[in-house]
Amino acid sequence: MALRIYNTLTREKEEFTPISGKDVGLYTCGPTVYNYPHIGNYRAYIFSDMLKRYLKYKDYNVNHIMNITDIDDKTIRQSQVEHKSLKEFTEFYTEAFFHDRDLLNIIPADTYTKATDYIPQMIKMIETLLDKGYAYKTQDGSVYFDIHKDKEYGKLSHFKLEDLKENAGGRLKKDEYEKDNAEDFALWKSWDESDGDVFWNTSLGKGRPGWHIECSAMSIDKLGESFDVHTGGVDNMFPHHENEIAQSECATGKSFVKYWMHNEHLLVDGHKMSKSMGNFYILKDLIDKNFDPISFRLWVYASHYVSKANFTFESLNSNQIALNKIKEFYLDLGKEMGIINDNYKNLFIEAMDDDLNTPKGLAVLWELIKDKELSNKDKKATILDFDKVFGFGLSNLEKEIIPIEIETLAKERLLARENKEWQKSDTIRDQIKSLGYEIKDLGNDYKISKI
Ligand code: AMP
Ligand code: ZN
Repeated sequence: MALRIYNTLTREKEEFTPISGKDVGLYTCGPTVYNYPHIGNYRAYIFSDMLKRYLKYKDYNVNHIMNITDIDDKTIRQSQVEHKSLKEFTEFYTEAFFHDRDLLNIIPADTYTKATDYIPQMIKMIETLLDKGYAYKTQDGSVYFDIHKDKEYGKLSHFKLEDLKENAGGRLKKDEYEKDNAEDFALWKSWDESDGDVFWNTSLGKGRPGWHIECSAMSIDKLGESFDVHTGGVDNMFPHHENEIAQSECATGKSFVKYWMHNEHLLVDGHKMSKSMGNFYILKDLIDKNFDPISFRLWVYASHYVSKANFTFESLNSNQIALNKIKEFYLDLGKEMGIINDNYKNLFIEAMDDDLNTPKGLAVLWELIKDKELSNKDKKATILDFDKVFGFGLSNLEKEIIPIEIETLAKERLLARENKEWQKSDTIRDQIKSLGYEIKDLGNDYKISKI
Protein backbone atom coordinates (compact mmCIF):
# COMPACT_ATOMS: atom_id res chain seq x y z
CA MET A 1 0.00 0.00 0.00
CA ALA A 2 1.24 3.44 -0.86
CA LEU A 3 1.34 6.45 1.38
CA ARG A 4 -0.49 9.44 -0.05
CA ILE A 5 0.06 12.90 1.37
CA TYR A 6 -1.38 16.32 0.72
CA ASN A 7 1.24 18.52 -0.90
CA THR A 8 0.59 22.23 -0.32
CA LEU A 9 2.65 23.07 -3.39
CA THR A 10 0.34 21.22 -5.78
CA ARG A 11 -2.80 21.35 -3.58
CA GLU A 12 -3.25 17.65 -4.23
CA LYS A 13 -2.97 14.37 -2.41
CA GLU A 14 0.02 12.69 -4.01
CA GLU A 15 1.68 9.32 -3.73
CA PHE A 16 4.80 9.67 -1.60
CA THR A 17 7.90 8.80 -3.63
CA PRO A 18 11.14 10.14 -2.13
CA ILE A 19 13.85 11.54 -4.37
CA SER A 20 16.22 8.74 -3.48
CA GLY A 21 14.70 5.31 -2.79
CA LYS A 22 14.07 4.68 0.88
CA ASP A 23 15.98 7.71 2.18
CA VAL A 24 13.93 10.69 3.27
CA GLY A 25 15.26 14.16 4.07
CA LEU A 26 12.82 15.90 6.40
CA TYR A 27 13.08 19.51 7.57
CA THR A 28 10.86 21.06 10.21
CA CYS A 29 10.80 24.76 11.03
CA GLY A 30 11.62 24.72 14.71
CA PRO A 31 10.99 27.16 17.53
CA THR A 32 11.97 30.79 17.74
CA VAL A 33 13.55 30.63 21.18
CA TYR A 34 12.37 33.86 22.78
CA ASN A 35 9.77 32.38 25.12
CA TYR A 36 8.20 29.03 26.09
CA PRO A 37 6.51 27.42 23.08
CA HIS A 38 2.72 27.26 23.43
CA ILE A 39 0.66 24.15 22.80
CA GLY A 40 -0.26 25.40 19.30
CA ASN A 41 3.45 25.16 18.46
CA TYR A 42 3.43 21.66 19.92
CA ARG A 43 0.64 20.68 17.57
CA ALA A 44 3.15 21.43 14.78
CA TYR A 45 5.96 19.43 16.42
CA ILE A 46 3.75 16.46 17.33
CA PHE A 47 2.57 16.43 13.72
CA SER A 48 6.13 16.25 12.34
CA ASP A 49 7.01 13.63 14.97
CA MET A 50 4.04 11.49 13.94
CA LEU A 51 4.96 11.92 10.27
CA LYS A 52 8.54 10.84 11.00
CA ARG A 53 7.37 7.87 13.08
CA TYR A 54 5.06 6.73 10.31
CA LEU A 55 7.75 7.06 7.64
CA LYS A 56 10.02 4.91 9.81
CA TYR A 57 7.14 2.47 10.33
CA LYS A 58 7.01 2.18 6.53
CA ASP A 59 10.74 1.36 6.52
CA TYR A 60 12.03 4.70 5.28
CA ASN A 61 15.34 5.97 6.64
CA VAL A 62 14.55 9.45 7.82
CA ASN A 63 17.09 12.19 8.35
CA HIS A 64 15.21 14.78 10.36
CA ILE A 65 16.58 18.29 10.74
CA MET A 66 15.02 20.95 12.93
CA ASN A 67 16.31 24.48 13.19
CA ILE A 68 16.44 26.59 16.30
CA THR A 69 15.82 30.24 15.41
CA ASP A 70 18.13 31.96 17.86
CA ILE A 71 18.51 35.17 15.84
CA ASP A 72 15.60 37.22 14.58
CA ASP A 73 13.72 40.41 15.51
CA LYS A 74 12.00 38.77 18.50
CA THR A 75 15.03 37.09 20.13
CA ILE A 76 17.06 40.29 19.88
CA ARG A 77 14.35 42.55 21.33
CA GLN A 78 13.43 40.20 24.16
CA SER A 79 17.04 39.50 25.18
CA GLN A 80 17.52 43.26 25.43
CA VAL A 81 14.41 43.59 27.61
CA GLU A 82 15.85 40.95 29.94
CA HIS A 83 19.38 42.44 29.84
CA LYS A 84 20.91 39.15 28.75
CA SER A 85 23.29 38.22 25.98
CA LEU A 86 21.53 36.72 22.97
CA LYS A 87 23.32 33.41 23.61
CA GLU A 88 22.42 33.14 27.29
CA PHE A 89 18.84 34.19 26.58
CA THR A 90 18.21 31.79 23.67
CA GLU A 91 19.98 28.84 25.32
CA PHE A 92 17.56 29.04 28.23
CA TYR A 93 14.51 28.73 25.96
CA THR A 94 16.17 26.10 23.78
CA GLU A 95 16.58 23.91 26.89
CA ALA A 96 12.98 24.62 27.89
CA PHE A 97 11.90 23.39 24.46
CA PHE A 98 13.94 20.19 24.77
CA HIS A 99 12.44 19.62 28.21
CA ASP A 100 8.87 19.82 26.84
CA ARG A 101 9.84 17.73 23.82
CA ASP A 102 10.85 14.87 26.11
CA LEU A 103 7.70 15.16 28.23
CA LEU A 104 5.67 14.89 25.01
CA ASN A 105 7.65 11.84 23.88
CA ILE A 106 8.72 13.57 20.68
CA ILE A 107 11.71 11.77 19.17
CA PRO A 108 14.67 14.20 19.01
CA ALA A 109 15.60 15.35 15.51
CA ASP A 110 18.79 13.83 14.09
CA THR A 111 20.28 17.31 14.07
CA TYR A 112 19.20 20.62 15.58
CA THR A 113 20.72 23.48 13.63
CA LYS A 114 21.11 26.77 15.45
CA ALA A 115 20.90 29.71 13.06
CA THR A 116 23.88 31.46 14.66
CA ASP A 117 26.10 28.48 13.70
CA TYR A 118 25.31 28.88 9.99
CA ILE A 119 26.12 32.52 9.23
CA PRO A 120 28.87 31.63 6.65
CA GLN A 121 26.43 29.41 4.70
CA MET A 122 23.87 32.24 4.70
CA ILE A 123 26.44 34.76 3.47
CA LYS A 124 27.43 32.41 0.65
CA MET A 125 23.84 32.05 -0.47
CA ILE A 126 23.20 35.80 -0.33
CA GLU A 127 26.34 36.41 -2.39
CA THR A 128 25.16 33.93 -4.99
CA LEU A 129 21.80 35.74 -5.16
CA LEU A 130 23.60 39.08 -5.58
CA ASP A 131 25.83 37.62 -8.32
CA LYS A 132 22.85 36.21 -10.17
CA GLY A 133 20.95 39.50 -9.97
CA TYR A 134 18.12 38.29 -7.75
CA ALA A 135 19.20 40.47 -4.84
CA TYR A 136 20.37 44.04 -4.45
CA LYS A 137 22.11 46.15 -1.84
CA THR A 138 20.57 49.32 -0.45
CA GLN A 139 22.32 52.44 0.73
CA ASP A 140 22.35 51.37 4.37
CA GLY A 141 24.17 48.14 3.41
CA SER A 142 21.18 45.79 3.74
CA VAL A 143 20.50 43.21 1.03
CA TYR A 144 17.02 42.55 -0.32
CA PHE A 145 15.53 39.84 -2.50
CA ASP A 146 13.80 41.26 -5.57
CA ILE A 147 10.53 39.34 -5.72
CA HIS A 148 9.78 40.60 -9.24
CA LYS A 149 12.89 38.87 -10.59
CA ASP A 150 11.54 35.49 -9.51
CA LYS A 151 8.89 34.53 -12.04
CA GLU A 152 7.59 31.76 -9.76
CA TYR A 153 7.24 33.91 -6.63
CA GLY A 154 3.90 33.08 -4.98
CA LYS A 155 3.67 29.49 -6.16
CA LEU A 156 3.30 27.99 -2.68
CA SER A 157 0.80 30.40 -1.18
CA HIS A 158 -0.90 30.87 -4.55
CA PHE A 159 -1.07 34.57 -4.99
CA LYS A 160 -0.26 36.63 -8.02
CA LEU A 161 2.26 39.43 -7.98
CA GLU A 162 0.25 41.27 -10.65
CA ASP A 163 -2.51 41.79 -8.09
CA LEU A 164 -0.06 43.59 -5.85
CA LYS A 165 1.63 45.71 -8.47
CA GLU A 166 0.35 49.02 -7.23
CA ASN A 167 1.92 48.84 -3.83
CA ALA A 168 4.54 46.19 -4.34
CA GLY A 169 7.46 48.49 -4.96
CA GLY A 170 8.62 48.69 -1.36
CA ARG A 171 10.88 46.77 0.95
CA LEU A 172 10.31 44.97 4.21
CA LYS A 173 12.99 44.72 6.82
CA LYS A 174 10.66 43.01 9.31
CA ASP A 175 10.83 39.22 9.62
CA GLU A 176 7.09 38.72 9.74
CA TYR A 177 4.36 40.30 7.62
CA GLU A 178 1.09 39.53 5.88
CA LYS A 179 0.38 38.60 2.26
CA ASP A 180 -1.07 42.05 1.60
CA ASN A 181 2.35 43.61 1.98
CA ALA A 182 4.38 41.22 -0.09
CA GLU A 183 7.39 43.33 -0.94
CA ASP A 184 11.10 42.79 -1.39
CA PHE A 185 12.29 41.11 1.79
CA ALA A 186 15.56 41.41 3.71
CA LEU A 187 18.22 38.75 3.26
CA TRP A 188 20.79 40.70 5.24
CA LYS A 189 19.99 43.52 7.66
CA SER A 190 22.68 46.08 8.16
CA TRP A 191 23.36 46.89 11.80
CA ASP A 192 21.52 49.70 13.48
CA GLU A 193 21.47 50.83 17.08
CA SER A 194 18.43 48.79 17.97
CA ASP A 195 20.48 45.61 17.34
CA GLY A 196 22.86 46.52 20.19
CA ASP A 197 25.77 44.08 20.37
CA VAL A 198 24.18 41.55 18.03
CA PHE A 199 25.99 41.64 14.68
CA TRP A 200 28.46 39.80 12.48
CA ASN A 201 31.26 41.47 10.53
CA THR A 202 31.14 39.80 7.14
CA SER A 203 31.87 40.39 3.48
CA LEU A 204 28.38 41.91 3.33
CA GLY A 205 29.27 44.36 6.06
CA LYS A 206 28.23 44.60 9.68
CA GLY A 207 24.79 43.14 10.28
CA ARG A 208 22.70 40.04 10.72
CA PRO A 209 20.68 37.68 8.54
CA GLY A 210 16.95 37.93 7.82
CA TRP A 211 14.83 35.10 9.23
CA HIS A 212 13.94 33.39 5.93
CA ILE A 213 17.49 32.86 4.65
CA GLU A 214 18.29 30.93 7.84
CA CYS A 215 16.09 27.96 6.98
CA SER A 216 17.21 27.87 3.33
CA ALA A 217 20.90 27.84 4.25
CA MET A 218 20.55 25.27 7.04
CA SER A 219 18.27 22.84 5.24
CA ILE A 220 20.44 22.87 2.10
CA ASP A 221 23.60 22.43 4.17
CA LYS A 222 22.18 19.37 5.91
CA LEU A 223 19.89 17.81 3.30
CA GLY A 224 21.19 19.02 -0.07
CA GLU A 225 19.82 21.46 -2.65
CA SER A 226 16.73 19.31 -3.28
CA PHE A 227 15.14 17.29 -0.52
CA ASP A 228 11.92 15.46 0.22
CA VAL A 229 9.70 16.99 2.89
CA HIS A 230 9.42 20.35 4.62
CA THR A 231 6.88 20.87 7.41
CA GLY A 232 5.53 23.74 9.45
CA GLY A 233 2.25 25.31 10.53
CA VAL A 234 0.04 26.98 7.90
CA ASP A 235 1.07 30.43 9.15
CA ASN A 236 4.61 29.62 7.95
CA MET A 237 3.41 29.21 4.38
CA PHE A 238 3.57 32.97 3.80
CA PRO A 239 5.93 34.71 3.90
CA HIS A 240 8.43 32.26 5.42
CA HIS A 241 8.17 29.22 3.16
CA GLU A 242 7.37 31.25 0.06
CA ASN A 243 10.58 33.18 0.65
CA GLU A 244 12.56 30.02 1.42
CA ILE A 245 11.54 28.62 -1.98
CA ALA A 246 12.35 31.86 -3.79
CA GLN A 247 15.84 32.25 -2.29
CA SER A 248 16.76 28.58 -2.57
CA GLU A 249 15.56 27.95 -6.09
CA CYS A 250 17.01 31.20 -7.46
CA ALA A 251 20.36 30.45 -5.80
CA THR A 252 20.67 26.79 -6.82
CA GLY A 253 18.60 26.69 -10.01
CA LYS A 254 17.05 23.48 -8.69
CA SER A 255 13.71 22.50 -7.29
CA PHE A 256 13.99 22.97 -3.50
CA VAL A 257 11.46 20.70 -1.77
CA LYS A 258 9.32 17.93 -3.24
CA TYR A 259 6.54 17.82 -0.62
CA TRP A 260 5.40 20.75 1.50
CA MET A 261 3.26 19.72 4.45
CA HIS A 262 1.46 22.18 6.70
CA ASN A 263 -0.50 21.47 9.84
CA GLU A 264 -3.57 23.59 10.51
CA HIS A 265 -3.85 25.71 13.61
CA LEU A 266 -4.81 24.97 17.12
CA LEU A 267 -7.50 27.48 18.01
CA VAL A 268 -8.89 28.94 21.21
CA ASP A 269 -12.48 30.19 21.01
CA GLY A 270 -12.18 30.13 17.24
CA HIS A 271 -8.94 32.17 17.08
CA LYS A 272 -5.43 30.94 16.33
CA MET A 273 -3.51 30.38 19.55
CA SER A 274 -0.63 32.85 19.48
CA LYS A 275 1.70 34.77 21.72
CA SER A 276 0.63 38.08 20.24
CA MET A 277 -3.09 37.45 20.93
CA GLY A 278 -2.22 36.38 24.49
CA ASN A 279 -4.65 33.43 24.20
CA PHE A 280 -2.10 30.71 24.82
CA TYR A 281 -1.23 27.90 27.21
CA ILE A 282 2.20 26.43 27.62
CA LEU A 283 2.75 22.77 28.45
CA LYS A 284 3.35 23.57 32.12
CA ASP A 285 -0.19 25.02 32.35
CA LEU A 286 -1.52 21.59 31.39
CA ILE A 287 0.76 19.77 33.83
CA ASP A 288 -0.21 22.17 36.62
CA LYS A 289 -3.80 21.11 36.03
CA ASN A 290 -2.65 17.48 36.46
CA PHE A 291 -2.85 16.50 32.81
CA ASP A 292 -0.39 13.97 31.47
CA PRO A 293 1.48 15.66 28.56
CA ILE A 294 0.75 12.53 26.54
CA SER A 295 -2.99 13.27 26.79
CA PHE A 296 -2.18 16.27 24.59
CA ARG A 297 -0.66 13.92 21.99
CA LEU A 298 -3.94 12.04 21.96
CA TRP A 299 -5.81 15.36 21.69
CA VAL A 300 -3.71 16.24 18.62
CA TYR A 301 -4.46 12.91 16.96
CA ALA A 302 -8.19 13.33 17.46
CA SER A 303 -8.21 15.83 14.55
CA HIS A 304 -6.71 15.30 11.12
CA TYR A 305 -3.67 17.58 10.81
CA VAL A 306 -5.20 19.46 7.85
CA SER A 307 -8.19 20.56 9.97
CA LYS A 308 -8.35 23.38 12.47
CA ALA A 309 -8.85 22.13 16.02
CA ASN A 310 -10.39 24.10 18.87
CA PHE A 311 -8.67 23.55 22.21
CA THR A 312 -10.67 23.37 25.44
CA PHE A 313 -9.79 21.80 28.76
CA GLU A 314 -12.99 19.74 28.50
CA SER A 315 -11.73 18.16 25.28
CA LEU A 316 -8.31 17.60 26.84
CA ASN A 317 -9.99 15.96 29.81
CA SER A 318 -11.86 13.53 27.51
CA ASN A 319 -8.51 12.61 25.99
CA GLN A 320 -6.93 12.15 29.40
CA ILE A 321 -9.74 9.73 30.31
CA ALA A 322 -9.28 7.92 26.99
CA LEU A 323 -5.51 7.70 27.52
CA ASN A 324 -5.99 6.26 31.01
CA LYS A 325 -8.30 3.63 29.50
CA ILE A 326 -5.75 2.72 26.82
CA LYS A 327 -3.03 2.39 29.46
CA GLU A 328 -5.16 0.34 31.86
CA PHE A 329 -6.34 -1.89 29.07
CA TYR A 330 -2.79 -2.41 27.87
CA LEU A 331 -1.56 -3.32 31.34
CA ASP A 332 -4.40 -5.81 31.81
CA LEU A 333 -3.27 -7.74 28.73
CA GLY A 334 -0.53 -9.45 30.78
CA LYS A 335 3.14 -10.07 30.12
CA GLU A 336 2.96 -12.57 27.28
CA MET A 337 3.74 -11.23 23.79
CA GLY A 338 1.98 -12.69 20.74
CA ILE A 339 2.14 -11.78 17.08
CA ILE A 340 0.91 -8.69 15.26
CA ASN A 341 -2.55 -9.22 13.83
CA ASP A 342 -2.45 -8.67 10.06
CA ASN A 343 -6.08 -7.61 9.68
CA TYR A 344 -5.78 -4.79 12.16
CA LYS A 345 -2.35 -3.81 10.90
CA ASN A 346 -3.74 -3.49 7.38
CA LEU A 347 -6.64 -1.38 8.61
CA PHE A 348 -4.22 0.84 10.51
CA ILE A 349 -1.97 1.25 7.47
CA GLU A 350 -4.98 1.99 5.28
CA ALA A 351 -5.97 4.82 7.66
CA MET A 352 -2.50 6.29 7.98
CA ASP A 353 -1.65 5.91 4.28
CA ASP A 354 -4.58 8.22 3.63
CA ASP A 355 -2.65 11.43 4.36
CA LEU A 356 -1.84 10.39 7.95
CA ASN A 357 -5.43 10.20 9.05
CA THR A 358 -4.91 9.81 12.80
CA PRO A 359 -8.63 9.98 13.74
CA LYS A 360 -9.16 6.90 11.54
CA GLY A 361 -6.00 5.30 12.96
CA LEU A 362 -7.30 5.82 16.49
CA ALA A 363 -10.64 4.28 15.50
CA VAL A 364 -8.75 1.13 14.48
CA LEU A 365 -6.99 1.10 17.86
CA TRP A 366 -10.34 1.28 19.71
CA GLU A 367 -11.78 -1.46 17.49
CA LEU A 368 -8.81 -3.63 18.38
CA ILE A 369 -9.20 -2.87 22.08
CA LYS A 370 -12.88 -3.89 21.95
CA ASP A 371 -12.27 -7.08 19.95
CA LYS A 372 -13.59 -10.09 21.87
CA GLU A 373 -12.03 -12.78 19.66
CA LEU A 374 -8.36 -11.84 19.56
CA SER A 375 -6.03 -13.24 22.26
CA ASN A 376 -4.55 -10.85 24.80
CA LYS A 377 -1.01 -11.59 23.69
CA ASP A 378 -1.76 -10.81 20.02
CA LYS A 379 -3.60 -7.67 21.04
CA LYS A 380 -0.56 -6.62 23.02
CA ALA A 381 1.80 -7.14 20.08
CA THR A 382 -0.54 -5.25 17.73
CA ILE A 383 -1.05 -2.30 20.10
CA LEU A 384 2.69 -1.98 20.61
CA ASP A 385 3.13 -2.01 16.85
CA PHE A 386 0.68 0.91 16.47
CA ASP A 387 2.35 2.73 19.33
CA LYS A 388 5.55 3.02 17.29
CA VAL A 389 3.53 5.62 15.38
CA PHE A 390 1.32 7.06 18.13
CA GLY A 391 4.21 7.43 20.57
CA PHE A 392 2.17 7.04 23.76
CA GLY A 393 5.13 5.22 25.28
CA LEU A 394 3.10 2.11 26.19
CA SER A 395 6.13 -0.17 26.12
CA ASN A 396 7.55 1.76 29.08
CA LEU A 397 4.49 1.19 31.23
CA GLU A 398 4.93 -1.02 34.22
CA LYS A 399 2.20 -2.69 36.22
CA GLU A 400 2.81 -0.09 38.89
CA ILE A 401 1.44 3.17 37.48
CA ILE A 402 3.65 6.09 38.44
CA PRO A 403 1.65 9.27 38.99
CA ILE A 404 2.31 11.96 36.45
CA GLU A 405 3.57 14.46 39.05
CA ILE A 406 6.27 11.95 40.08
CA GLU A 407 7.19 11.29 36.43
CA THR A 408 7.44 15.04 35.83
CA LEU A 409 9.65 15.53 38.86
CA ALA A 410 11.86 12.63 37.74
CA LYS A 411 12.25 14.14 34.28
CA GLU A 412 13.08 17.53 35.79
CA ARG A 413 15.68 15.81 37.97
CA LEU A 414 17.21 14.08 34.96
CA LEU A 415 17.54 17.45 33.26
CA ALA A 416 19.14 18.92 36.39
CA ARG A 417 21.64 16.03 36.40
CA GLU A 418 22.43 16.58 32.74
CA ASN A 419 23.13 20.23 33.61
CA LYS A 420 25.24 19.14 36.58
CA GLU A 421 22.91 20.96 38.97
CA TRP A 422 23.57 18.46 41.76
CA GLN A 423 21.90 20.36 44.55
CA LYS A 424 18.69 20.76 42.56
CA SER A 425 18.80 17.06 41.67
CA ASP A 426 19.13 16.08 45.36
CA THR A 427 16.28 18.36 46.36
CA ILE A 428 14.02 16.79 43.74
CA ARG A 429 15.05 13.29 44.91
CA ASP A 430 13.98 14.22 48.46
CA GLN A 431 10.73 15.65 47.15
CA ILE A 432 10.02 12.40 45.26
CA LYS A 433 10.83 10.44 48.43
CA SER A 434 8.49 12.55 50.53
CA LEU A 435 5.73 11.60 48.06
CA GLY A 436 6.45 7.90 48.64
CA TYR A 437 8.64 7.00 45.64
CA GLU A 438 12.25 6.07 45.17
CA ILE A 439 14.35 6.93 42.16
CA LYS A 440 17.29 4.88 40.96
CA ASP A 441 19.75 6.29 38.39
CA LEU A 442 20.56 4.13 35.39
CA GLY A 443 23.19 5.99 33.37
CA ASN A 444 21.23 8.57 31.40
CA ASP A 445 17.93 7.12 32.55
CA TYR A 446 16.17 6.29 35.82
CA LYS A 447 13.74 3.84 37.39
CA ILE A 448 11.01 4.86 39.83
CA SER A 449 9.43 2.52 42.35
CA LYS A 450 7.08 2.81 45.29
CA ILE A 451 8.85 2.80 48.67
P1 AMP B 1 7.30 29.88 15.77
O1 AMP B 1 8.11 29.57 17.01
O2 AMP B 1 6.36 31.02 15.94
O3 AMP B 1 8.17 30.00 14.53
O4 AMP B 1 6.33 28.63 15.51
C1 AMP B 1 6.77 27.30 15.54
C2 AMP B 1 5.82 26.40 14.77
O5 AMP B 1 4.51 26.39 15.36
C3 AMP B 1 5.61 26.83 13.32
O6 AMP B 1 5.58 25.68 12.50
C4 AMP B 1 4.26 27.50 13.33
O7 AMP B 1 3.65 27.48 12.08
C5 AMP B 1 3.52 26.63 14.33
N1 AMP B 1 2.37 27.27 14.98
C6 AMP B 1 2.32 28.51 15.52
N2 AMP B 1 1.10 28.75 16.06
C7 AMP B 1 0.36 27.62 15.87
C8 AMP B 1 -0.99 27.24 16.21
N3 AMP B 1 -1.81 28.04 16.87
N4 AMP B 1 -1.40 26.00 15.84
C9 AMP B 1 -0.57 25.15 15.17
N5 AMP B 1 0.70 25.45 14.82
C10 AMP B 1 1.17 26.68 15.17
ZN1 ZN C 1 11.83 27.90 8.84
